[in-house]
Amino acid sequence: MMKRNTKVWVWILLSTCQIMWVFAGSQEELFTTLQKTPWEAKSMQALQTLMRNEREPVALRSRAMAICSLALLRQGNTNQFVKASQFLESTFPEEKGLITVSIAENFENCSACSGKGRREVPCPACKGKACLRCKGAQVIQTVCTLCMGTKQQFKLSPAVQENALRLLKEGVDICQKNLRFEKESVVALAEKDNAKKIALLEAVLSSFPERTDLAPVQKSLEEAKKIREVELARKKERERREKEEREVERLRGLREVPAAEREAAINAIETYLLKNPKCSAQNELEELKAELTAKVALRNRLISSALWLVGLCGGFAFIVFLKVMIFSKKIERSGPLPGMARIDKNKFTDPLAEEREKNQTRSKQEGN
Ligand SMILES: [Zn+2]
Ligand SMILES: [Zn+2]
Repeated sequence: MMKRNTKVWVWILLSTCQIMWVFAGSQEELFTTLQKTPWEAKSMQALQTLMRNEREPVALRSRAMAICSLALLRQGNTNQFVKASQFLESTFPEEKGLITVSIAENFENCSACSGKGRREVPCPACKGKACLRCKGAQVIQTVCTLCMGTKQQFKLSPAVQENALRLLKEGVDICQKNLRFEKESVVALAEKDNAKKIALLEAVLSSFPERTDLAPVQKSLEEAKKIREVELARKKERERREKEEREVERLRGLREVPAAEREAAINAIETYLLKNPKCSAQNELEELKAELTAKVALRNRLISSALWLVGLCGGFAFIVFLKVMIFSKKIERSGPLPGMARIDKNKFTDPLAEEREKNQTRSKQEGN
């Protein structure tokens, strides 16, 4: 969100840009007019005003001054032209090569004295009748009144106008570039979408690196970048929270895992808590871990009790088995019944044998 004082500041900036826009437009018009009608008096006056206005861009002021200097040369006022040229160089030392035409280009041999500087005139004393003064020559040598003995006379070179036209074209180009800068600055500064605003402001800075009034654009760019940083940090934090939510939800699901997977679940929770010590669901996960640990401990106790029980039962069964085994061996080893050893087998008659003998005897008798 833009601060209130920043809004006011941007509004002032935009208004200034719009005023500059109007000025830049009128300056372009001035240079264009002079291109069409060079040296036109009213426009030349406007150019002088522009030249003196210290709030105007140096590139325009220096060109205006150069054109005004060339106007002096055009009028043949070479001394003033030299002074003006020197003043131009000292006022705008960074603007070089504005005046390319030289004074020498605008002089030719004097037509009156044919470049001699002196010429013969009828003797003023004798008026051509010969006298002592002219030593009878009737003429005397005198300094050329046209070139004043300099042997040369001023003749305007077309290079002066060419120089002026080049400067006017540069002036138009500068005005158009200034207009483009003003328009692009206004659009960039007024852009609502922060990402677009950064792109536009950066484009302005890269398109007009030579400008010395880029501070507002730079300041606005810095502010837009700060906003972007805050937005990025918020987005990152939101993504982190969403990821944490997903992870925690996954870990919550481990509450219902089969008993065999509880150890792995506890490890997963421990690993997550180690990696994310500032996790918002830390207490909940600690509780879940404790719950799972308790379940694992209970299961282990149950298993060991069951094992004990099985072992115990096995032991009993073994003992019973052993007892059975021992008992069956005693039966095998048991001898004759007690007292049987003392019985005389010869005296012992087999009741069945007696019966058999009786039967045999009876059958014999019946046969007979
Ligand atoms: Zn004379
Ligand atoms: Zn002359």
